[in-house]
Amino acid sequence: MNTEVDKILDVKINRIATKEVLEKIKFFLLSDKQHYIVTLNPEMTIETRENIKFKNIINEADLAIPDGIGILWALDFLEKKNKSLGKLLLFISTLLKLLFNSKHRRNILQYRTHGIDLIYKICGSEHIENKRIFLLGAGEGIAEKTAKVLSQKYDHLNIVGAEEGIKMNQESGIRNDDLIQRINIVKPDILFVAFGAPKQEIWIHENLKKMPNIKLAIGVGGSFDFISGKIKRTPLIFQRSGLEWLWRLVREPKRIKRIYNATARFGWMVLRK
Ligand code: UDP
Repeated sequence: MNTEVDKILDVKINRIATKEVLEKIKFFLLSDKQHYIVTLNPEMTIETRENIKFKNIINEADLAIPDGIGILWALDFLEKKNKSLGKLLLFISTLLKLLFNSKHRRNILQYRTHGIDLIYKICGSEHIENKRIFLLGAGEGIAEKTAKVLSQKYDHLNIVGAEEGIKMNQESGIRNDDLIQRINIVKPDILFVAFGAPKQEIWIHENLKKMPNIKLAIGVGGSFDFISGKIKRTPLIFQRSGLEWLWRLVREPKRIKRIYNATARFGWMVLRK
């Protein structure tokens, strides 16, 4: 199994295909230890520049998998950087190749695993037969709706709890303890946490040990919003062409700062590296 570990801006990244991620998960679920997976996008990499705690949490994760074409482009660029051409020329040529060479893009995209797809793949996998799943996060009613959609899709699924995250307050120890207690009562094996980054990764890191039944925790960002149908998923053509950011910019213009960070600012930081 290819478990190649790379780094972008000092942040670890496991360049493995979804199939291999699932093999790893099978192993995690059989093990006695607890594990957590980070689905990494360019914005999160930028966040680590000012948030060392977050960086360490990613670097300690059992898997940090690319959830964004920007991460894979950066790996491609950094790998070739020392070989030929000037940096700027290489920067432009790797970007153009990604945009216009569909074979190259397909090759690169085999290592991208969206949080949403990971949830579907895990829920559809035979490895989770008899495993108990808990969905935590997103706005009012969204986790419950997500549980319903997933249970309708996969007969064998055993979702033992679904709880919103929006009002979850990190500062409120008591509320957090109550939440941990509610999770522990239903003894889940797998926990999906959808608080958005870096909050979800920090929460998992701080609380995983308090939930000894959990074998695997995964930060899944806004995935419940999509699975529940609250937000329409980006059409496949945009996903496959690596232009999801453009789709989201048109649909949700208020994300412009986040999209700027994930594209222009991230590209600039990688170029300067
Ligand atoms: N969220 C939450 N608690 C919070 C803040 C956010 O449960 O305190 C949820 C929010 O409702 C959304 C998700 O976390 O469902 C984050 O979505 P975002 O689009 O930011 O994530 P991305 O997929 O872009 O990382």
